[in-house]
Amino acid sequence: MRALHLLPAILACCLSASSLAAQGTKVWTLEELFRRNVGTREQQDTQFPPHKIIGNLYYVGTESLASFLIATPDGLILINSDYERTVPIIRSSVEKLGFRWSDVKILLGSHAHADHMQGDAMVKELTGARVMAMEQDVPALHAMTPGNKPHPIDRILHDGDPVTLGGTILVAHLTPGHTRGCTTWTLKVQDGGKSYDVVIIGSVGVNPGFKLVNNPEIPQIADEYLRSFKILRALPCDVPLGSHPAMYNLAEKYPRLGKGSNPFIDPAGYQAELDIQETAFHAILDQQKQGN
Ligand SMILES: [Zn+2]
Repeated sequence: MRALHLLPAILACCLSASSLAAQGTKVWTLEELFRRNVGTREQQDTQFPPHKIIGNLYYVGTESLASFLIATPDGLILINSDYERTVPIIRSSVEKLGFRWSDVKILLGSHAHADHMQGDAMVKELTGARVMAMEQDVPALHAMTPGNKPHPIDRILHDGDPVTLGGTILVAHLTPGHTRGCTTWTLKVQDGGKSYDVVIIGSVGVNPGFKLVNNPEIPQIADEYLRSFKILRALPCDVPLGSHPAMYNLAEKYPRLGKGSNPFIDPAGYQAELDIQETAFHAILDQQKQGN
């Protein structure tokens, strides 16, 4: 009887081990990765339970669009406003965590696509936050005018620029390819007397329709991706995050929060995600080079 009792647990254990192994060897197609990241419209618009990730860093995004909050004694930094329609969800998450929306002093973004930065003008209007963006993304942001509102930019950032508030320093790394000014953010957080390196990947995804070969508008696009993979590989990372929560398996990690060690400390997960992305990138690059 005892052994029979244990059987479901053993089976569950074997199953999860084998699905993990399958995950490690799975080669994702671009379409699968794109869908994994952006999710359904419903996932984009559904609040994910806001939570502390580590140190002074919090999650305030939806099920498939990541937004991060950094709390400092001098106010809040928000990364990613997402769509205008998701701004009220982000605001609700900030307030559920006990912070004041009006304390958002700085607004940053992952890259100049609507699912991460369309809501910038609205957030600025509501909070008065200073909006900062990577110089190479400025033209794309200027073209982003929801409801005819011009995109606000108070400070133009350059590769390697620090953004500081209340003792927290974020560094903007130019990781182009996905957009010209795609930005990966790094910061150090303190938790339980230790210091951790956090990396928020801007994106190295190749969207369906991206032309990596013979692209007249962006002839350097493939080189941009290659450069970005190199930069990302070289960044020290204890806590991998990304512009979409699927990039760091939030749905799988969240239930483990508060039960033992912090699931977001996952340096191996960082390398695994880069492996997935880089493999998919080279597969599509080869395909396009062969003219398929
Ligand atoms: Zn994007």
